[in-house]
Amino acid sequence: METFLDDQDLQVSAIIKGELDRQRQGLELIASENFVSRMVLTVLGSVFTNKYAEGYPNQRYYAGCKFADQIETLARSRARKIFRAEYANVQPHSGSSANMAAYFAVMKPGDTLLGLSLAHGGHLTHGAQVSFSGRFFNVQTYGVHRDTELIDYDDLLIKAERYKPSVIVAGSSAYSRIIDFGKFRQAADLAGATLIVDMAHIAGLIAAGLYPSPLPLADIVTSTTHKTLRGPRGGLILAKNKLARTIDAQVFPTLQGGPLMHVIAAKAVAFGEALTAEFIDYQQQVLINANRLATGLSEAGFRLISGGTSTHLLLMDLRNKNLTGAQAEAVLEQAGLVTNKNVIPFDPQPFTQTSGLRLGTPALTTRGFKEPEIDQVVEFIDEALHKPNDDNGLKKIRHKVEALTQKFPLYPGL
Ligand code: PLP
Repeated sequence: METFLDDQDLQVSAIIKGELDRQRQGLELIASENFVSRMVLTVLGSVFTNKYAEGYPNQRYYAGCKFADQIETLARSRARKIFRAEYANVQPHSGSSANMAAYFAVMKPGDTLLGLSLAHGGHLTHGAQVSFSGRFFNVQTYGVHRDTELIDYDDLLIKAERYKPSVIVAGSSAYSRIIDFGKFRQAADLAGATLIVDMAHIAGLIAAGLYPSPLPLADIVTSTTHKTLRGPRGGLILAKNKLARTIDAQVFPTLQGGPLMHVIAAKAVAFGEALTAEFIDYQQQVLINANRLATGLSEAGFRLISGGTSTHLLLMDLRNKNLTGAQAEAVLEQAGLVTNKNVIPFDPQPFTQTSGLRLGTPALTTRGFKEPEIDQVVEFIDEALHKPNDDNGLKKIRHKVEALTQKFPLYPGL
């Protein structure tokens, strides 16, 4: 593949090689990222990228859709099987567009949306003012409790009753504990609201049966396919059959034209992988590794939001280290560890700086990391954050990181 690229476009091939080396030589700790299988990677570059297939299987607006129909039907049925869902739409280009379609299916502009505040771990699409969700809907938010840093379900129930939202959205981008979907169902029933669960971060854990499934309780479940689920970048919507036509119509033609058939083909592959026993072992190791990372960092004196993790991610509070999230992110990158700054609940710092750092184990686990390697990661983080201005010291850590990554080759032969 590289030789072909070299011949055709030296500039692009050099940039792609740079990115491959970056992924190979660094420790990928961004909780929302992962490494797809070689099969997913190959299928993303397949001839399906050439095909227009507006519409849905057997109801297309273009000729020549026989195989597009087959692949989309397969992707839908595998998605339904993984999550025991009645209906699946595999066309959303992203998690954000999946959420938009889900909202449009059950809300009009100006209706009330109740979501987890961005400042407490919610996603932009859960009602942030800078997102379409904050612009189109009347947004109310719930949050976490100041003491426990767990979702404040009393606050949720009070706001559900007070604001009578049309939609309550559960789900988060930076919450490390199990969400009680039963409490959300109760809140939705109290308000007469539609309950949408955005399981983007935890979809892989749910697929493996290691996190409670929202499917029995939610009216609509949305997801990305590229985080713990380890598929190509994209979105997914699941629901009961009674909402199928409404949701389908919001994805196409309301929000999208032609579906990305090469991505849908790659989703089919990833969904197939998610149905294997190896996938369950992988997700189990993701949790073991996250727990090990949390324990190691706590023992090294770092404060974790809510005291730790029950999922694939954790959120560090850096206030007692006199570092902002932005500084810590930059220091760790210098040392070869890739993370992201993140607001913590009740953060005194602005969004551009933050007091927190989000870490996750899905990508490192895909790479083959187990407890001993996670212990080394803890040492690297601890050492780097205690010498933020020591360029030489950070360089030495970077060399140790590279030595470790070489023992876990990424995409060998590519
Ligand atoms: N929902 C949640 C909970 C997320 O964390 C994210 C992405 O980080 C999204 C939705 C949006 O996904 P995308 O980046 O594919 O639009």
